[in-house]
Amino acid sequence: EIFASLRGLRIHSCEDCQRFDQCHGGCPAVAYHLKNDIEGGDPECLERCVTSIAEENQKASAA
Ligand code: SF4
Repeated sequence: EIFASLRGLRIHSCEDCQRFDQCHGGCPAVAYHLKNDIEGGDPECLERCVTSIAEENQKASAA
C-alpha cells in the first residue's frame, strides 16, 4: 500500500517535462530529505538546472 502510494505521486513541477517518461519525477526521497516536501520535485534535477540557467541567460541577453 505504501509503495503503491509512492508510485502514484503527482509531481506537478514535472508535468511538462519532456523527460518524464524516463525519470518519473526524480527521487521523492531526496525531495523529502532536502525540502520536506515529497511532492515538491527532486531538487537535484539537472533538467531544471539547465532550464533555469538558459532562462537566466535569455533574460540577461534581452536586458
Ligand atoms: S525530475 Fe527533472 S528530469 Fe525528472 S521529470 Fe522532473 S523536471 Fe523532468
